[in-house]
Amino acid sequence: MKIAIAGAGAMGSRIGLMLHQAGNEVILIDRWADHINAIREKGLIGEFEDHEVVAHLPIYSPEEIVEDHANVELVIALTKSMQLEAMFQDIQPIIGEKTFVFCLLNGLGHEETLAKFVPKENIIFGTTTWTAGLAGPGHAKLVGSGSIEMENLDPKGKAFTLKVLEVFQKAKLNPIYSNNVRYSIWKKACINGTLNGLCTILDCNIADFGSLSVAKNLIEAIVGEFAEVAKAEGIRLDQPQVIQAVEATYDIKTQGLHFPSMYQDLIRNHRKTEIDYINGAVWEKGKKHQIETPYCSFLTQLIHGKEELLNAK
Ligand code: NAD
Repeated sequence: MKIAIAGAGAMGSRIGLMLHQAGNEVILIDRWADHINAIREKGLIGEFEDHEVVAHLPIYSPEEIVEDHANVELVIALTKSMQLEAMFQDIQPIIGEKTFVFCLLNGLGHEETLAKFVPKENIIFGTTTWTAGLAGPGHAKLVGSGSIEMENLDPKGKAFTLKVLEVFQKAKLNPIYSNNVRYSIWKKACINGTLNGLCTILDCNIADFGSLSVAKNLIEAIVGEFAEVAKAEGIRLDQPQVIQAVEATYDIKTQGLHFPSMYQDLIRNHRKTEIDYINGAVWEKGKKHQIETPYCSFLTQLIHGKEELLNAK
């Protein structure tokens, strides 16, 4: 399959590399000049736990993407949330009538953004438990394993989505066809909407957060707000099950010693966060449905305050 990765940072590099290794024709699209130059000079380095691969993948900035690539069958969106719209504005030339877009970003509200550029029947949504990091430009660090849930937004997109599932299976990306991907997206947003912001503001890892006497109250309050807003949007979250999924991450044998991605972005690298697409999205959607979301609004503003203090870019 001819596949473009729109946003070839940490996760885009992982998915792009694995699809390339399985024999697909993969092109990368990214705006980061040092990353583009490194990949053009030395190839994309994928440092797995027990081996390293170097893939000489073509990489373009969005401005360089022209009709030459109009036969791309699948575009996998993997920018950060706040970068999605600009990316799709720029890559319009490669999005034809038959091009499908698979959105694997974390967060809420991406359906509305993509609908501006792609017909609903050509949109696939998903969530993933794979992770990835960058050691530097052109160098992805790829530890652990994961899986990917996917589902077409419109029944007309099912046949192509099943083809994508097969392609992902061959790439050992452990895909699962979901019957309710919106539920999974909201559930994952709850996990990110609690641990990301709270560990960032409290300056601690997940296990330390979980050991706090206030942890349970905070989690219940935030998940409660997500559940109320999700219900107004037609999704009934099973709150005890979601809270259990959050608490399962406290275990130091699994993710407990990990600092969430928002912590790494903001505290370590002074990068702007995806908060507006997690707690901020619940706050915004809550306003639309006249639902009060004081915890989400407070946490969103605290994170924005921290972004200002750290002059995050
Ligand atoms: P990242 O910052 O490493 O990668 C995003 C890339 O997109 C960057 O290289 C950036 O240069 C590029 N980009 C952004 N806007 C662009 C534009 N307009 N034109 C061209 N290039 C542009 O981020 P990431 O960690 O790979 O995360 C991507 C998404 O996946 C996020 O929604 C994140 O929450 C989600 N996610 C990440 C992980 C992880 O372990 N890293 C795991 C699961 C989900």
